[in-house]
Amino acid sequence: SPADVADIGVTGMAVMGSNLARNLARNGYKVALHNRSVGKTETVIAEHGSDGDFYPSESMEDFVASLQKPRVAIIMVKAGKPTDAVIDELSSLMDEGDIIVDAGNALFTDTRRREAALREKGQHFVGAGVSGGEEGALNGPSIMPGGTKASYERLGPMFETISAKAEDGAPCCVHVGSDGAGHFVKMVHNGIEYADMQVISEAYDMMSKALGMDASAIGDVFDEWNKGDLESFLIEITATVLHHKDATSGEPFVDVVLDQAAQKGTGAWTVKTALDLGVPVTGIAEATFARSISGGTPQREAARGVLPGEEQKLEIADPAQFIDDLQKALYAAKLVSYSQGFDEIAAGAEEFDWDIDLGDMAKIWREGCIIRARFLDRITEAYTRNPKLSLLLSDEYFTTEIAKCIPAWRRVVAFAAASGYPVPVFASTLSYYDSVRAERLPAALVQAQRDYFGAHTYQRVDAEGTFHVEWSEDR
Ligand code: NAP
Repeated sequence: SPADVADIGVTGMAVMGSNLARNLARNGYKVALHNRSVGKTETVIAEHGSDGDFYPSESMEDFVASLQKPRVAIIMVKAGKPTDAVIDELSSLMDEGDIIVDAGNALFTDTRRREAALREKGQHFVGAGVSGGEEGALNGPSIMPGGTKASYERLGPMFETISAKAEDGAPCCVHVGSDGAGHFVKMVHNGIEYADMQVISEAYDMMSKALGMDASAIGDVFDEWNKGDLESFLIEITATVLHHKDATSGEPFVDVVLDQAAQKGTGAWTVKTALDLGVPVTGIAEATFARSISGGTPQREAARGVLPGEEQKLEIADPAQFIDDLQKALYAAKLVSYSQGFDEIAAGAEEFDWDIDLGDMAKIWREGCIIRARFLDRITEAYTRNPKLSLLLSDEYFTTEIAKCIPAWRRVVAFAAASGYPVPVFASTLSYYDSVRAERLPAALVQAQRDYFGAHTYQRVDAEGTFHVEWSEDR
């Protein structure tokens, strides 16, 4: 490759990297390409060379040399050690002021560590969350870049150009905040995605088991739901998946899939981080545990046919009413999961000193990403009405919507509990809702117990200060 030509470079020519590079090239940028093994780069040029101006290099030295200064190189390789190795190699070849972007799925604490190390050398390190899978990378993802403001001045125009655009034309990309803020927000995005997927599956499960509907009939319901408040990518693909017939058996596809959900760890990261920050993300946590339960084969084997159920076979008098209840319960549970996710972002911003605009996060999730949905506009509006909103659920739009859903939500959870159907997200979000709104919580008793066995002290409802009971007199 000639020197100093490319606007930007991408190293890592697997599906995500090559699609991101093609997206950049299709938008008129001159794109340098590199991959550890040369074959993948050659394939991209052979198959997609006509997408735009590509400058392939075999060596990392040539790759870096082909970039215009200040250089911008995007890393899209396997997360973890491979990413560290590539950062080291790139950084040693780059100069002060150059920008290295990790667009893979990194844990935000790794991003903070990497950013600090490169800052020492006067280089910019940007952890950018990229959502939307392969299709998004090629046609417009939602992009969540962290790093310095200065790096965003160089990167922002390119990222905003290749990002998805919302209905109002706004790019689904904004500078999230410094160092690891972008990867943090991407992590919470994935956590919310877990909760959304699980609660949709719980609604499916109830229609299947309680109403005996087949997959295709349930698909029709999701198609219908996708025309209302629930309109979203995940509801849409759920309908498509449920209508899909298995090519081998001719059976509904979902019926031949083994009921064990895998995970790559971003849900667990969201939950672990929430525990560290003391933020209750119960919907996300239950969704993550639901995957673990599904994959816990020895436990499921041991329990099958052994654990008594005592479930009541309740009659559903009005299936249409039941389906309407499920829709409302789904919406309410979703509102709670998002509210919890935004609480985690707010807590992260507080802890790590990030200036994150919560309304902007909802804005850049409107298109391109997996949780894209109509109702994200409502979240942006809520934070516009009150940027200091301490509980998303307490915004007037949300209280009005939830009020319409509550009776249905309770009926669904009560029916599931009586019938023996597991609904961890429906139930845990309702429990959270009732906890956060409770006038008085049983935490008073917990605190009293703590004072008894650990002299942890307590505070009173009727006086200032800290108190302790000499429990020995009661023993
Ligand atoms: P991947 O399968 O995660 O990684 C394969 C790429 O990493 C190849 O280019 C490979 O090079 C390179 N690589 C592996 N070890 C390396 C090392 N030690 N040194 C240098 N290069 C190394 O690729 P992907 O699915 O395109 O994902 C890339 C990143 O995007 C990951 O962080 C992933 O989590 C994230 N992501 C993926 C998706 C998705 O839908 N797939 C969505 C969002 C985010 P060789 O060809 O030489 O082996």
